Amino acid sequence: MADVEVRDGRIVQVGDVDASVESFDARGRFLVPAVIDSHVHLTYWPVADELARSGVAAAVDLAAPMSSLAEPSAVRLLASGPMITAPSGYPVTSWGRGGYGLEVSNAGAAVDAVELLHARGARVVKIPVTAAPVLDDATITAIVARAHELGMRVAVHALGDAEALRAARLGADVLAHTPVEPLSDETLAAWSGRAVIATLSAFGADAATLTNIARLRSAGATVLYGTDLGNTRTPGIDAAELAAMHESGMDASAILEAATHAPALYWGLPELGDVEPGKAACLLLLARDPTTDPLALADPEVVFVDGERAS
Ligand SMILES: [Zn+2]
Repeated sequence: MADVEVRDGRIVQVGDVDASVESFDARGRFLVPAVIDSHVHLTYWPVADELARSGVAAAVDLAAPMSSLAEPSAVRLLASGPMITAPSGYPVTSWGRGGYGLEVSNAGAAVDAVELLHARGARVVKIPVTAAPVLDDATITAIVARAHELGMRVAVHALGDAEALRAARLGADVLAHTPVEPLSDETLAAWSGRAVIATLSAFGADAATLTNIARLRSAGATVLYGTDLGNTRTPGIDAAELAAMHESGMDASAILEAATHAPALYWGLPELGDVEPGKAACLLLLARDPTTDPLALADPEVVFVDGERAS
């Protein structure tokens, strides 16, 4: 048990705090960093205010129209803007008709697209690796190289085994979803040292998907909590996603890590992910122990956003 002193939205001290300051008694409860959702679509479903109040401090928006990059958000947002895709490629002929894809037909146009997105404020690049029409190897290689030069990670939508393998070989950094088709040993090895955003409940968390995330984790991929919010509809910390992660074999501590510290490190959000001096006071008070109860994160009793009580 310890005191946590917050000033001007930041944690300034953990330990024995001067009793004269205004205080909030959290005895018997568990204090953890607020959650990072590594896969959302906040233009598709604009619920950022609700997310912030419910304990999500930051989110990674993995496809939205270009205009969204200029818009302020109630949560810290790392955004891709539109996916870079092939002409008529995913998702521009399906759910992503309204500007969710930026179509390019060669490597030069793709590099221009990466630079344009970065200039408009994108801090991550999203590409689909699906069945045709799909970007060719030279184009994907060029996207990855330019994104990395600009300090952006490349997230890939790849649900099949061959697609996931292809994406890793071409240098993609993070699977936007756990693939749903059983993954080969070769694909698992290719994703070692890379990352995967769970989004298990978005695809029904079937046995093959749960096995894939368990095997990716054993192979050395970093697992990040993410919901595909917009396509899923829980505007907060999603108990169904936490339960599916648990069902895949992750214990409560591993789930807490995947929802807080790991994504803060992975995405470069240094003020989040820990309860320690210098970090933003984006904190959750939980009734149950999140290191033993995999669902404890789902319903925080109190949410602090930058030191202010939000719920
Ligand atoms: Zn998505």
